[in-house]
Amino acid sequence: MSGNAARRKAIEGIASHSGMAPSFDYKNDKVEDLYGINVFSLEKMEKRLPKAIFRSLKNVIENGGKLDTTVAEVVASSMMDWALAHGATHYAHVFYPLTGLTAEKHDSFYEPSGGRLLATFSGKSLIQGEPDASSFPSGGLRATFEARGYTVWDVTSPAFIVEGVNGSTLCIPTAFVSWTGDALDKKTPLLRSMQALNRQAQRILKLFGHPDAGFIAATAGPEQEYFLIDSRLYHLRPDLYTCGRTLFGARPARGQEFEDQYFGTIPDRVLAYMMEVEREAFKLGIPLKTRHNEVAPGQYEVAPIFETANVAHDHQQLTMTILKKVARKHGLVCLLAEKPFAGVNGSGKHVNWSLGGAKVGNLLDPGDNPHDNAQFLTFATAVIRAVSLHQGVLRAFVASAGNDHRLGANEAPPAILSIYLGDQLTGVFSQIQKSGAATSTKRGGALQIGVDTLPVLSKDAGDRNRTSPFAFTGNKFEFRAVGSAFSIAGPLFLLNTIIADSIQYIADALEKATKGDPKKLDAALQKLLQEILNEHGKIIFNGNGYSEEWAVEAAKRGLKNLKSTPEALPEVTTKATIAVFERQGVLRRHELESREELSYEGYINTVRTESKLMLEIGRTQIYPSVNRYIAELSAARGGVAGAGVELNDGVLERITALQCAFADALATLEKQRDTPSGAPHKKALLARDNILPAMQKVRELADSLEELVADDLWPLPSYQELLFLR
Ligand code: ADP
Ligand code: MG
Repeated sequence: MSGNAARRKAIEGIASHSGMAPSFDYKNDKVEDLYGINVFSLEKMEKRLPKAIFRSLKNVIENGGKLDTTVAEVVASSMMDWALAHGATHYAHVFYPLTGLTAEKHDSFYEPSGGRLLATFSGKSLIQGEPDASSFPSGGLRATFEARGYTVWDVTSPAFIVEGVNGSTLCIPTAFVSWTGDALDKKTPLLRSMQALNRQAQRILKLFGHPDAGFIAATAGPEQEYFLIDSRLYHLRPDLYTCGRTLFGARPARGQEFEDQYFGTIPDRVLAYMMEVEREAFKLGIPLKTRHNEVAPGQYEVAPIFETANVAHDHQQLTMTILKKVARKHGLVCLLAEKPFAGVNGSGKHVNWSLGGAKVGNLLDPGDNPHDNAQFLTFATAVIRAVSLHQGVLRAFVASAGNDHRLGANEAPPAILSIYLGDQLTGVFSQIQKSGAATSTKRGGALQIGVDTLPVLSKDAGDRNRTSPFAFTGNKFEFRAVGSAFSIAGPLFLLNTIIADSIQYIADALEKATKGDPKKLDAALQKLLQEILNEHGKIIFNGNGYSEEWAVEAAKRGLKNLKSTPEALPEVTTKATIAVFERQGVLRRHELESREELSYEGYINTVRTESKLMLEIGRTQIYPSVNRYIAELSAARGGVAGAGVELNDGVLERITALQCAFADALATLEKQRDTPSGAPHKKALLARDNILPAMQKVRELADSLEELVADDLWPLPSYQELLFLR
């Protein structure tokens, strides 16, 4: 079937799509009965485990205590019984390698014994697994001949069952480490960083009179943006199914300029999909809360209620899997890439972050009285200092070839890291900043921490700023530069680490200044916060992050503007980054080096794959189609001329010229593809400087041709079709 006939057939299919039969009986199968049915939760463990065992396990989960191996033995057998009752035959240690994906190795519960199969599951199998680690990228952390890597049970994230068509599997979240103890994954540093954050937060809380605050955990709520397109059209776009984004495509007549999509009515087919996604998530105890249309046509968002960072991460990985899986069932494809379509908005993943605990609540929630407010301001100041000091590595941790199309493209936060605080908080901080110099001039707005002049802060998030990469939103910070395809583990463990470090800095200074005398706290805090704000206030920016003036102003302030991945990645191993990670015990130098190297590799591989595919589609689909049209036009001209009329409209000349330029551009791209060589950083820069512009040129010419060539000859589904047919 020629490309075009296939397109026609796909479109006819979509036009006659009558919707699918309901996947469940929503009137009788209530969601509240489904919630968590596939999770081996604390409640289930409490019912099934002996009291002492349960208490010991709960202490590990809630207070970060140590796990006793005898406990594991009992838990394993109870976990297996529960899993078998749910039809599971296998268990899998699930881990999160440096690729950002989810990996799993399945083992059967069953072993032959006396001519029949017996199910067993030991404490040792629960606690530790040994997948063949050699084929996971480690960035040089582990030579292939020493492929030993271990998966280690993460007690703090509950085990769950994944249902398949032909059976189900017990999944156990694990950390993945080498036999030398290096982190080969994204969960290990996340867990380490949560410990560090807790350790330092406790010191501040103690100074504020909470010696027994309970475990302080980072909390996270990730908002996921995605595109949905019909799978019939998707399969006619090799760029989409190979690279996750379109490499060609002329701008449609209608884009997103009508602004009628955002929060608009959700189409039936999409809503049916979303509801099934939610059901699947609920079964796994993932608390999805919000669903809506996003700005671009075909773009949507889903967000859960926040959870402890570690669990939020595992649930986010599962959510991405569910989004993709359920889409297939509905004849749709869920695109998680940052920029599947040029010219319309890309997708992000806003990571909302805070810290707190059961006893003390959310520590970034302004309090009802000056004392609580002082504590809140202390934690907020730690965040400001951390983001200011580590702006470069924050940018690096959200850098990828995919996200480069988005960051700084006037639809997403700029590549410059800054903090939006809103008017209220900015006012409070600028008063604190002033107050040292002007303590006598009370009316001049000097603000004394801890005394009655500290205003009651309203909890209303109030004003919003969509252009900021890092925004305070009432009781949490929202990191908005994260890409939609990213694992949130990296951004989370980075935030935990740098903020723990700033909290440590503050705690050190305050403990030294007060020497155990609480009466000295207010004055010490006043002085310290002032110093920090004087040095780091430059990171605060409430204006329009998309404007050109901001780039100029930011440069004046000395803020970094790392526009592309190759520019940003060296920040992963600067002295300051290594020092902060080592001080907090989260990653060591070589663990960071391996991550930097892998990120370069990822970048180069993406650019090389995309450019290879571009050549292929250009040469084997677009070029031949254009030639066919040229032949048709020439024939028509000859025909008309034969009748004695000259068809002199110039179309043939225009297309021929474009086609020649297109052939040249393809040849240039082919040459440039081979130029990157040398060390990873240099290679990445060459890929950016040589291959990307050559790809851009090919695309521009192809898109111009698409606007001229007869539609029945064009091989690829158009943007119009991809974005609007559903
Ligand atoms: P918006 O689109 O206005 O940013 P949403 O309601 O879509 O807001 O998303 C806000 C996200 O922030 C939700 O996932 C929510 O659970 C999360 N969130 C709320 N409070 C906290 C907190 N204390 N810590 C982390 N995340 C939080
Ligand atoms: Mg948001």
